Formats: sequence, C-alpha cells, structure tokens
Amino acid sequence: MTGDRPDREVVEMLDRLLQERYGGDGSGLLLGQVGRDPVDVLVATVLSQATSDRASLAAFTRLKERFPRWEMVLEAGPVELEKVIAPAGLGRQKATRVVDILKAIQARAGRISLGFLKGAPAGEAARFLEGLPGVGPKTAACVLLFALGQAAFPVDTHVYRVARRVGLIPEKVDRARAQKILQESVDPERYLRLHVNLIAHGREVCRARRPRCSQCPVRSVCDAAGTPANPPVP
Ligand code: SF4
Repeated sequence: MTGDRPDREVVEMLDRLLQERYGGDGSGLLLGQVGRDPVDVLVATVLSQATSDRASLAAFTRLKERFPRWEMVLEAGPVELEKVIAPAGLGRQKATRVVDILKAIQARAGRISLGFLKGAPAGEAARFLEGLPGVGPKTAACVLLFALGQAAFPVDTHVYRVARRVGLIPEKVDRARAQKILQESVDPERYLRLHVNLIAHGREVCRARRPRCSQCPVRSVCDAAGTPANPPVP
C-alpha cells in the first residue's frame, strides 16, 4: 500500500485470483437479477439492507406483482407496502423509506422514473441519488453501477471487511472513504467484477467470523492471512 492506496499489482492480482474462483458476472446477486431499471435497482437495494439476497428478492418480487406501477405504491401507502415486503424484514422502516424515495423522485423529476439520469454527466447522477431521502453513497453507487452503467464502487459489509483484511484500504477508514479510495485506485473496468467477487468471497471464505484462510485463493496477497485475528481454519 502506498499512503492509503493499494498497489496496482495487488489490485490486479486480487482481481485475477477472485475471477478465477468466482467468475464475477454478478448473476448470482440480487442486483444481478432485478433488471436494469434504476428505480427497481434503488428499491431493491433498500430492501436488501440487513437481510439475505433470497429474502430481499422474494420481497421485491411480491412488490412488483402487487404494484406493477410505482404510482400504485404511493396510492396504497406505507402500511400496505409493509405487508407486501415483509419477507425482507424491517418492513415498517423499509416501507417508509421506499415511499419517501418515490415521493421525492416524483416531486423532483415530475414522474417516478430515473431514466433521465442515463447518460447524465459524471457526478450529476450521484448527486441526485444521494439527495434522495435516506440514500447514501453505497446505495447510490449500486444504482450507478448496476442500472446506469456509470463508474462506481459500492462498499457493502462484505466488500468493506474483505478489502480491509486484504489491505486494499487502511483498517480505520469509514465506508464512504473506502468507496472513494477504491474508486480512485481501481481501474473502472474492474469495478463490477471486483465488487461482486469481493461479496462472493466475503460470503463463502472470508467470513466475518472464522475466515477460512487455509482455503483462501487470495491468501498470497492478503495482509491478514493467518494473523491472530484471522487464524487459518482447517
Ligand atoms: S487469507 Fe483469510 S483474511 Fe485474507 S482474504 Fe483470505 S480468508 Fe480473508
């Protein structure tokens, strides 16, 4: 690491090793399965917070079946929405968040669509998204990367944990800073692949508790391999 930036060779090696193990097209992730509409991706990202992809996909599928148009969600209101998205958990909180976001889009864009952000100048789409109620850098980055085809590197809990252990980012940076560092030090064409592969790696091998260092395909480039905090597990 140079300063708080990862060395280019480490990024390239990590990307290659993870790609060999996991592929990295994102088809197994929630956001790889909900299509490319930016409002769909935004709502799916809200539903995905603090739950599994399976649960949030079930909730998203129910939501789209019950409300084929987003205007119908506003007509129904948060109490009805809460019942529909129950499989994702935190129903009241997520229903309120989704309704607030849809209202804000309608008020600021004139209708519930984010299609006008496609092709927007760099930074403009991110500013609009981060100006919506409860939308932070990670959620905005998911919409930018998965729906709008713009360069962004979402940092979820798995990306954050694995990136710190491997040494892509310093231990003490917060997630917003981590996103900035990764976006400035990783080639944009690697963003999507590296993002989805870091998530796969965090779920399968570099788990929060008892990471499987002895079975890890990237241990040769990992700062934390076999350290007391991350002992090798047979
Ligand atoms: S060697 Fe261990 S700590 Fe490092 S990435 Fe692999 S599982 Fe995680």
